[in-house]
Amino acid sequence: MTTGSLQIHSENILPIIKKWLYSDKDIFVRELVSNACDASHKLKVLRERGETKAADDTLRVELKIDKEARTLTVSDYGVGMDAEEVEKYICQLAFSGAEEFMEKYKSDNKEDQIIGHFGLGFYSAYMVAKSVEIHTLSYKEGAKAVRWSCDGGSDYDIEEGTRTTRGTDIILHLDDDSDEFLEAERLAGILKEYCTFLPYPIYLDDRHINHKEPLWMQTPSNCTDKDYLEFYRHLYPNTQDPLLWVHLNVDYPFRLQGILYFPRVEKQVDLRDHRVKLFCNRVFVSDTCKDLLPEYLSILRGALDSPDIPLNVSRSYLQMDRTVRQLAKHISKKVSDSLSALHRDDRERFIDAWKDIGVIIKLGAVEDEKFYERVKGLLLWKTATGEWITVEDYIEKNKETTADKVYYTTHEKHAEHVLEAYKDRGIDVLIADAGIDTYLINFLEKKLSDTIFQRIDADISEALVDSSREKTVLDADGKTEAGRLADFFRRKLSADNIEVEAKSLARDELPAVITMHEQRRRLRDYMRAMDPDQPMAMDAHLDHYTLVVNTNSPLMHAIQKLDTQDPELAGDLAHEICELTLLSQRELDPNALNTFIARSQRVLSALASKATGSETS
Ligand code: ADP
Ligand code: MG
Repeated sequence: MTTGSLQIHSENILPIIKKWLYSDKDIFVRELVSNACDASHKLKVLRERGETKAADDTLRVELKIDKEARTLTVSDYGVGMDAEEVEKYICQLAFSGAEEFMEKYKSDNKEDQIIGHFGLGFYSAYMVAKSVEIHTLSYKEGAKAVRWSCDGGSDYDIEEGTRTTRGTDIILHLDDDSDEFLEAERLAGILKEYCTFLPYPIYLDDRHINHKEPLWMQTPSNCTDKDYLEFYRHLYPNTQDPLLWVHLNVDYPFRLQGILYFPRVEKQVDLRDHRVKLFCNRVFVSDTCKDLLPEYLSILRGALDSPDIPLNVSRSYLQMDRTVRQLAKHISKKVSDSLSALHRDDRERFIDAWKDIGVIIKLGAVEDEKFYERVKGLLLWKTATGEWITVEDYIEKNKETTADKVYYTTHEKHAEHVLEAYKDRGIDVLIADAGIDTYLINFLEKKLSDTIFQRIDADISEALVDSSREKTVLDADGKTEAGRLADFFRRKLSADNIEVEAKSLARDELPAVITMHEQRRRLRDYMRAMDPDQPMAMDAHLDHYTLVVNTNSPLMHAIQKLDTQDPELAGDLAHEICELTLLSQRELDPNALNTFIARSQRVLSALASKATGSETS
């Protein structure tokens, strides 16, 4: 028997591991099982190369619970180790890593620690065990069985062992406070979480735990829609099926395989519960790796597998290093590529998905220059006539009538009568009703330097006017009919923040339109978004608008006429028209609603009594 001392200069590493990794005890299962799989895999490779005569037995990993002895054993039929290898791989290598680990550990930044990197996986056993034994027999011809043991102090023993079959048993003598790992259900849960996709069968007390082949390792052309959907359902049971997916398969400059899904937007579900699952050589690592995807793609779900991702000591946090940034970039590129492909090959399906994913793509475009360049041809807008087009399509289609202007509305039903006027003239109007659209519009104006976006009620465009019916004839006072109508309303309304104009609008049934300067309105909307509690009419300067009265509206002339008979009612009606117009354009201050209703009732009863009065007379 050999006795040795673990060579660490400063302190003993094991108490540190125990204490430091306390919060994430479960991972010892993953580490030991993946070591067992690694050893099995090494044997498989040797067999394939004909470098071993080892028996043709089935490679598998077994976990056995012994409640009485309070032990948990992880066994494999892999390459095993001889005494020299135990010294080298378990005692020396690990602890040269450990020294480095200790150096790092002294630094404050805990996220620097990398358990895989330091080769400390095996020692995670000491998070739950007071002592550990290794029984191992190497595949090499004539190898002798070895027993290694260490009780968590700095001394270990190596002696001749008793194992008679090739492979390794790791026996954990569990701590008094680690009872939970003697419960089969608890262990099965951990195995299912971390080891479902491992390549060798894993048994827990004769129960086969892992059945799943990871779909991401298949060639994309061999996978059917059904495969992708089934895999998704396996990853996220009890959620709706996804909209789209992207199969990643990269070899250079890093290895990355995976499938990312665009989920349907579900209001009830907390998205944080369903994040992308990160695997490292089929071993589940974590689903809280947020830096792996650009922020705007954080809604994506699915599985990513890369042996090149640097992981910290608990393997749940990524190091934000070059590789991770490159990965994120690459993922964003692949996502935009496959969206482009879908747009090209199946526009109908793309449009259907766009209703859910549009917001994500728009956000990505605004946030990431490169992403924008790749998706700019996919940024679709619905038009008032129900089509889906890009801004470029819009400009091309409407060049004759709108030049470089792009007309939009912030609400599909917003100012319906104004919208109708645009439709009458065959001018498309984009529906920009998503919260992000305001930002996207600002962004696109910078990108497409000649293009100006203008909300349909920003001013009276050609589309709304019928110049053939303009009332330009001057009367005795040097005023036009239009001028008189405007004067009348100006006098009746007499508000500082309302200007009045009279114009010959094409639709007679439209009494008036409220217009508001595009840039000023944007500023106001922005301020309002910053401070939603501020009443709408608070800042008269920003809430400054123009009431354009229609000289072709019989109603407006009737109100003007009424002034000689009943000036009070005529005044009420002028206000009524103004506020109805604001209301129809979704611009009426909610605080003004009570005044509006009170006046409406007053006006209605005045009109009713006038009507009944004229009937009786
Ligand atoms: P890593 O797996 O990152 O190399 P570990 O601490 O998990 O670090 O393991 C250290 C080394 O011990 C492994 O590289 C391997 O050579 C050896 N080893 C651990 N477990 C086994 C096993 N079950 N069978 C054979 N060798 C093993
Ligand atoms: Mg390992």
